[in-house]
Amino acid sequence: MTNIRLSSLAALVLAVAPLAAQNAPARAPNSQGRIPILEYHLVSDKDSRWGRSAEHFRRDLELLYQRGYRPITVTQLIDNKIDIPAGTSPVIFTFDDASPGQFRYIEKDGKLEVDPSSAVGIWLAFNKTHPDWGKRATFCMLPGAAAGHAFFGDRNIEGQKTAWRMQKVKFLAEQGFELCNHTLWHANLAKYGDAMVQEQIARGVLAIDSAVAGYKVRTFALPLGIWPKNRALAKSGSWRDPKTGREVRYNFDAILEVSGPAAHPPTHAKFNALSLPRIQIVGMELEKTLDDLEKKGERYVAGPAAK
Ligand SMILES: [Zn+2]
Repeated sequence: MTNIRLSSLAALVLAVAPLAAQNAPARAPNSQGRIPILEYHLVSDKDSRWGRSAEHFRRDLELLYQRGYRPITVTQLIDNKIDIPAGTSPVIFTFDDASPGQFRYIEKDGKLEVDPSSAVGIWLAFNKTHPDWGKRATFCMLPGAAAGHAFFGDRNIEGQKTAWRMQKVKFLAEQGFELCNHTLWHANLAKYGDAMVQEQIARGVLAIDSAVAGYKVRTFALPLGIWPKNRALAKSGSWRDPKTGREVRYNFDAILEVSGPAAHPPTHAKFNALSLPRIQIVGMELEKTLDDLEKKGERYVAGPAAK
């Protein structure tokens, strides 16, 4: 009974409160709080171990928005450019493996439209109704893995044409999303020698460069969270393309793990850009993470912008 009364009261307050007050609840700044880096894989028609249903994904955006979270990219985190309104908290969305469910096109009368049931479609629609949400997320992509995990679909898998791949990557960059490398085809890097490790990583970078010439890829997500035997090669290395003779170099500023708690902020003594923990968003993990941060007083809250 109490719950029902409270929630209807809350609904009434939300309905009559001015928009600005709703969006920026009074929270004291906490620049030493933690920042959740969310990890999504498949976005499809149902929830699964590696998948979020489209409907559930939409609800995740709504939940975060209502609880005063605003997205930033991994790059913004490591550069400490957390430029969100005072009183709100940063959240980072990362999307791994470049599946069609993350970004599908529909062809209508010869024109391509973003499928509204793909993650990017849901995000863009949400941003239209919540313009202060923004278009910031980090896509850790594979250009050449099996089963359509090739820059969001190829060979008609889920209706996606191979020719659309570069266009999708370009679109994401133009919208302001971050492009992140996740190797060429998701090799378990611990299984291979130094040359193959560098080839896998460099070819991921090269493919991004083919879509967006000159793009500086700063973030790398380890496939399966597994480091190469020579750990230094996850951060930097090079490979010579035998077709062109061109040397492709990489040197990342951020490396993403596959699990862990919410991340420390960049000014914290324990912050390590080269081993950033992520939270796999399955089941009730998102709600649990937000509740825990709140309970422990560990939620990062932005203060007024520095002058
Ligand atoms: Zn992956």
